[in-house]
Amino acid sequence: MNKAEQLAELAAECAACTRCGLHAGRTRSVFSDGNPAARIMLIGEGPGYNEDQQGKPFVGQAGQLLDRMLAAIGLDRQQVYIANIVKCRPPGNRTPTPEEMQACLGYLEAQIALVQPQIIILSGATALQGLLQQKRSISRSRGQWLQWQGIWCMPIFHPAYLLRNAARDKGSPKWLTWQDLKAIKAKYLALMTPITEERRIKDVNQN
Ligand code: SF4
Repeated sequence: MNKAEQLAELAAECAACTRCGLHAGRTRSVFSDGNPAARIMLIGEGPGYNEDQQGKPFVGQAGQLLDRMLAAIGLDRQQVYIANIVKCRPPGNRTPTPEEMQACLGYLEAQIALVQPQIIILSGATALQGLLQQKRSISRSRGQWLQWQGIWCMPIFHPAYLLRNAARDKGSPKWLTWQDLKAIKAKYLALMTPITEERRIKDVNQN
């Protein structure tokens, strides 16, 4: 089976999955969007109302803001692969429980293994904690390069949080996110070009 077929099989598994209680409330599971050949993967928390209705991650207002954030660094959804920590909508858009995240993690790990991104953007605290399996504050972790199984990961604020915090002045969540996006773009460009030994050593020392 090729990559597309394996991802389609995984998506079908999610659609029929009853591994956790979230299956009971879903209209449909939400597996992914974007390009499976992308070098950047973006991971969010889980489907909300609009995502559950449409079967696509990051639609609605938060999705529109995400599209603008990607556009600000010259990217669109065809250059990114998008998935969530849980594939089914938590009731009332509550945060998924650790048990639900754990039940669903195998699907996400399989997606990452197939897509093989070079950069993972962790959008929000749940994405950060769900993938890294550690309780970390998004405010303290955002903007820092972390590694997960040899892949560069950058936590950023979730677009839904940015919608609730509209200020753009220096130090505001939006301003900080712009700094993070610029760092992601720089890392993306650096990974796209042949790496020099000098830059490799600098990267190691900085991170
Ligand atoms: S959230 Fe994940 S583990 Fe739970 S039922 Fe949906 S697909 Fe299965």
